[in-house]
Amino acid sequence: MNEKPSNLEAYYGLPQEVKFCTKCCYSNQRPSSQLEIKHTKDSKKVTLAFDENGVCDACRFAEKKETINWKEREDQLLELLAKHRKNDGSYDCLVPGSGGKDSVYASHVLKYKYGMNPLTVTWPPIMYTDYGYRNFRNWIEIGGFDNISFNQNGKTIRALTKLSIENLFHPFQTFILGQKQLAPKIALKYNIPLIFYGEHEAEFGSPIEETTSALQDSKFHSFENIDDLLLGGVPVGEIREKYKLSLADIMTFLPATREEYSKGDVQVHYLGYYLKWLPQESYYYAVNHSGFEARPFRTEGTYSKYLGLDDKIDDLNYYCYFIKFGFGRCSEDASQEIRNGHINRDEGKALVARFDGEFPERYFMDVMNYLEMDPDYFRHELTDKFRSPHLWVKVDGKWMLRHTINGTGYND
Ligand SMILES: [Zn+2]
Repeated sequence: MNEKPSNLEAYYGLPQEVKFCTKCCYSNQRPSSQLEIKHTKDSKKVTLAFDENGVCDACRFAEKKETINWKEREDQLLELLAKHRKNDGSYDCLVPGSGGKDSVYASHVLKYKYGMNPLTVTWPPIMYTDYGYRNFRNWIEIGGFDNISFNQNGKTIRALTKLSIENLFHPFQTFILGQKQLAPKIALKYNIPLIFYGEHEAEFGSPIEETTSALQDSKFHSFENIDDLLLGGVPVGEIREKYKLSLADIMTFLPATREEYSKGDVQVHYLGYYLKWLPQESYYYAVNHSGFEARPFRTEGTYSKYLGLDDKIDDLNYYCYFIKFGFGRCSEDASQEIRNGHINRDEGKALVARFDGEFPERYFMDVMNYLEMDPDYFRHELTDKFRSPHLWVKVDGKWMLRHTINGTGYND
């Protein structure tokens, strides 16, 4: 063990001392989801809370899930659906998604188990994988759903994705923006009262007090003053000028205006609040009901074959996450499986030792070509800029984590 200097800077407002949950593989550096339209490199992140026993909020939430009266929750759902179900041929609920296991499951049970009339809405991946596209087509063809797939302005999404990588090391920002904001806007236009997302964000460690509600915080769905907003960490006005983009070019990436939003009455619910959500089960459900296919090979950076398959940029996104927060995609996947009882913590730790932080070679050059970015610049200069000194140290010319869950870090 090498002693760690006490005055090391922690970027992004991360906790100075690195800790790992005593039940899963989560680190206390894990950020909660945040408001992307206010996100800058210097934004202080809210991170995962640990209790006095060193157990994270996501694990506490998993325990709490075991005590929930699911029959009662389903009754609440039935009541909500009965209030809004339409029989005149119009849509009564909207399910956003890409044809991954969760959106397939959500739309399918709403339509075929609960007799609703969902419209599905897709904010397509930045760069579809073959598997992702096939699963998307199967969702609407085999599952039998109407779908609005919003094909974004290619020039804008490329410019914004590049900015979010260079300024925030956050390749997925445009995807997250679209995924949260497109559905409420479409629902307003079609006069659809209910939106259903799948799992609650608390499953992944958002503050546990937010799990007591089925509704998503409306701060994600509208804005008041466009001059307050940022994309890729840059004020909207500046982007427009620099890239010669009109307001219409950029509006898709922003939430509805407060005025637009207040005209309608759209509620955004998590179906995972009403129904017990198990990732592995929604996977089997999607395979059986809509021809969902896992990939025959594992995803780089982890061991799983059926999560987050649709976007070539997803793998790079998790790599960037690993650089910024010191733990990666395998820690995420293993933690979830530990909480659901499929593996134990020691097995999780072994998987993390093997796969966490692996460089996503498979689609890397496709992404660099798409962004017109120099791969060497990305791999070194840019990546190193986002390594927080309290997490990383360079030893004999090689970067090393100071702390890992396996105790193999430079300062462990
Ligand atoms: Zn945990």
